[in-house]
Amino acid sequence: MTKRKKERHRCIIHLCKKKRNETEGESHGHLSWSWRQILLLRPLAKEHLIYKCGNGEKFSLWFDPWLHGDSVLALYGHRVILEAGLSKHARVKEVIWEGEWCWPQASCDLVDLQQRVRNIPVSTAPDSIHWDKVGEAFSTTRAFHGIRQRSSSVDWHDIVWHSKRIPKHAFSLWLALRGAHRTKNKLLAFGVVHSAECAFLCGETETLQHLFFQCPFSAMVWREVLLMCNIVRPILLWVDEVLWMSTHARGSAFHHTVRILAFVATTYHLWIERNRRCFKNLFLPHQEIIRLVRQDVSGKLASGNSYLRCERYHSLCVNWGVPLGEDI
Ligand SMILES: [Zn+2]
Repeated sequence: MTKRKKERHRCIIHLCKKKRNETEGESHGHLSWSWRQILLLRPLAKEHLIYKCGNGEKFSLWFDPWLHGDSVLALYGHRVILEAGLSKHARVKEVIWEGEWCWPQASCDLVDLQQRVRNIPVSTAPDSIHWDKVGEAFSTTRAFHGIRQRSSSVDWHDIVWHSKRIPKHAFSLWLALRGAHRTKNKLLAFGVVHSAECAFLCGETETLQHLFFQCPFSAMVWREVLLMCNIVRPILLWVDEVLWMSTHARGSAFHHTVRILAFVATTYHLWIERNRRCFKNLFLPHQEIIRLVRQDVSGKLASGNSYLRCERYHSLCVNWGVPLGEDI
């Protein structure tokens, strides 16, 4: 096992064997927020963990789920601990004698336990914990996919997370699509601001719909950017703009990549300009926003050499300032 894998394995075991008063108790006051959030995943992780008993030196006799996926405590309750006369900190090894199971036969439950563990082999190997399958190395990827909650797929996934994306643009659009941008109509409702007037001074209320691209200022920018993409059509409502992009910019064709990059860059720079006006009281004219969009998009296109050989997209390359390469 590599050092990294050992570390991961140790982390999982640590998560499972963390002191019970910290992991199962209600009092988490002294624990960090991050650790408390990890602990909340414990029941979920437990469903995937397999405790394989070896020499019994590591596993808690009462609390670890080494007994066919359950703990002795879960199956028999606290009384069995008293009946056995063993400490609650006892390890499994304390009921193993010369390689055989040897439970104190002081009650019906303990007699039952002796029967129940018969088919669990005792060995000299250390106790081990596995993920989903005994013997398989722990994989962070499989663990993540095993416990994460899956959301339903969205039409706009490829617009945001396409392979040529500019990360900060993609993140900003993702926030917008998730409705996470704190537009002024929301801030007014929270009582954070006294006015929801659009930062682009059109006199309308700032909403997501308005910013993208019903506001005259935003519409002016977006119309110009669409023209640079050789697209002439009316400006649509936000939800329809997203839908249009998801249906008219699929795949990796050059002109589709240009559209997506241009769309995402426009939403990004409009949002940045909105923030610039709100927080810095600085105002850029719409031509400057278009220049910034063009600069980012052409920079990205120029960085992918495969796009340079695109004579048939000559006008697009001219519009965006992308150097032309050899013909296809
Ligand atoms: Zn406006």
